[in-house]
Amino acid sequence: MTSKLVLSPHFDDAVFSTWDILVRERKNITNVTFCGGVPPEECVMTHWDGMCGFNSAREAAQKRAVEDANACEIAGVNWKHLDFLDLPYSKEKSIADIEEVLEKLVPDFDVVIAPIGIGQHQDHIVIRDAIISVYKKSRSFELVFYADCPYASVNGWDSDDSSKELDYQWSYALSQVEKQGVRLLEPTRIEFSETQVLEKLVAAKTYESQLKGLLEYYPALLETDGCFSVEVTWKCESVE
Ligand SMILES: [Zn+2]
Repeated sequence: MTSKLVLSPHFDDAVFSTWDILVRERKNITNVTFCGGVPPEECVMTHWDGMCGFNSAREAAQKRAVEDANACEIAGVNWKHLDFLDLPYSKEKSIADIEEVLEKLVPDFDVVIAPIGIGQHQDHIVIRDAIISVYKKSRSFELVFYADCPYASVNGWDSDDSSKELDYQWSYALSQVEKQGVRLLEPTRIEFSETQVLEKLVAAKTYESQLKGLLEYYPALLETDGCFSVEVTWKCESVE
């Protein structure tokens, strides 16, 4: 069996966006979360972490790490937390720093699964662009992209780009990838049965603190025909 590496900028990204792959492959998967670092004591907590019910930035990072370990246990995958900080607690990450980490990680894997960057979160974009660069240099693994949840289904899974702000438009994220010399193949769309969504929701609800914040913006997040009912991935090929 091939070994697969899932790149999660934040703790919930793999479970929210690649559940189908995680539970199909289980122990062949390693889910690496980049922003797994714990901010220093003196760090002023963000509004978001307050919305998630925390009293400090440290408490938020520590609790989220435990939630993620529990979710990965449910999925049955291997996991690893790196010590980058979430964007509000760090300056913009440098692509060179992320590339350096990826160059050490990827030789152990046949397939790397990365965010495509819908939503334009800087942590997602820098990891996407770094893995594209490493992919073009090494060509030693297959590269697959995933649609970032919940951003990808912001107006529902079947809504047209014209109804969305630029950051949430699929065509914008896809064009950013293709501009870097990567040709995306036809997407694979998985539609879960109600039973499968309910299984995914058990793991998704493990990110209890994150959901407190997300539900403010995505009130239908946990509905069985909502955000978690579909996943989309793209295989690709390098054209440079
Ligand atoms: Zn994320």
